[in-house]
Amino acid sequence: EAVARRRQYIAGGTMSINRAIGPAKLFVRAKGAYIWDAEGNAYIDYHAGFAPYLFGHGDKDIDDAVIAAIGSGASLIGAGTMPWEAEIAEMLVEAVPGLEQIQLTSTGSEAVSYALRLARAATGRDTVVVMQGGYNGWSDYVSYNLMDPGDVVADHREGDEYPLRVTTAGIPKVIDTTVRVIEYNDLAAAERVLARGDVAALILEPVLQNVGVVKPLPGYLEGLRELCDRYGTVLIFDEVKTGFRHALGGYQAIAGVRPDLCTFGKAVANGYPMGVVGGRREIMALCNDPDPGRRVIIAGTYNGHPVNVAAARASLLRLKARERDVYSELERLGARMQAGIEAIFARRNYPTTFVRQGSAFALYFMDHAPRNWRDIALHNDNERDLAYRRAMIEAGVFHFPAATKQSSISLAHTDDDIDRTLALTEDVVRTL
Ligand code: PMP
Repeated sequence: EAVARRRQYIAGGTMSINRAIGPAKLFVRAKGAYIWDAEGNAYIDYHAGFAPYLFGHGDKDIDDAVIAAIGSGASLIGAGTMPWEAEIAEMLVEAVPGLEQIQLTSTGSEAVSYALRLARAATGRDTVVVMQGGYNGWSDYVSYNLMDPGDVVADHREGDEYPLRVTTAGIPKVIDTTVRVIEYNDLAAAERVLARGDVAALILEPVLQNVGVVKPLPGYLEGLRELCDRYGTVLIFDEVKTGFRHALGGYQAIAGVRPDLCTFGKAVANGYPMGVVGGRREIMALCNDPDPGRRVIIAGTYNGHPVNVAAARASLLRLKARERDVYSELERLGARMQAGIEAIFARRNYPTTFVRQGSAFALYFMDHAPRNWRDIALHNDNERDLAYRRAMIEAGVFHFPAATKQSSISLAHTDDDIDRTLALTEDVVRTL
């Protein structure tokens, strides 16, 4: 009945999750590392609400902070007026190498839109370069650059740069000419496109995490930094997914490469809606440029909403106080999962490769760790990948039900949860 009602009143009916696993499953509740469907079945959750839940669902600290904010009389008086806003801005600037000033937004997509506007204002150029298989949100600036690797095998020669494939109607044609796509981990392609001298920004997830976990080759991010410096292009790290999951300082702190601008979202407020855009002071100064033609206004009724700021503050305070414990524990749990999964699949007669960065992991159905999207599109056995995910959901383990999607471990997962996941995986792979 609930599904029928959704179909009638919600455009498109159900979410992609339900399209993939069938409409009958309706998730109604979550706590810690678990989610429950309407029939009361429990699932160990690695989808983590599209990845924000670093501390798990319904974390007590975060919820208490939110409830306190609601009860405190704090309200939307105006962006920048809430004392906690400056406090979390200071914490972010102290923690993240590439941040000298920030602005808050409500979502990751908005943070990306503003980063691109800032880059265009700073350079006086229009073109933006994105990565194939990267996802930088839903804004019309970069559109929907996320393709199911099952959709298409790349129709371009490796190393070529090409226009964004507009797969969704209603997106302005202008992006055909102003957004260029290259493959990740291909420095020569980056050089060819940047050398034209008309590129305002190169934006990328430093680790591609919307097509699993695709890591930068040694020297790749450093190479992009050098090319952007040489050709006057603003380097933007989209850390909406990588930020706070891998380190308090973002993946940039691990890589030791400093972008000009960067964006955050998801884990910054552990499931409450907040995005962050920030970077070098002289670029962020455009927010207050005396020339109205250059000024970049970052606005939004709910930017800096007290509830979300309270959630981010609670999350950041905990990360700051227990940074080493949090990330070593996530690493330990990730390693336990990796060892178990690799042992289980080692005995199969088809290839799999487990790739992990800390608590984020992906199991590819191919014989090597992918180098970029094209590599995945050409080699991953999407059918088996999806069959595995569907069978795991039936068994009570929730990995996102689409091929090559990333899974996330949270601090709410225990050793027992991991071991139970492994036991269920062992049962499932016998049927594949
Ligand atoms: N950038 C990246 C890297 C993302 O993973 C996402 C969300 N999946 C976004 C931007 C968009 O964030 P939001 O959904 O909060 O708009």
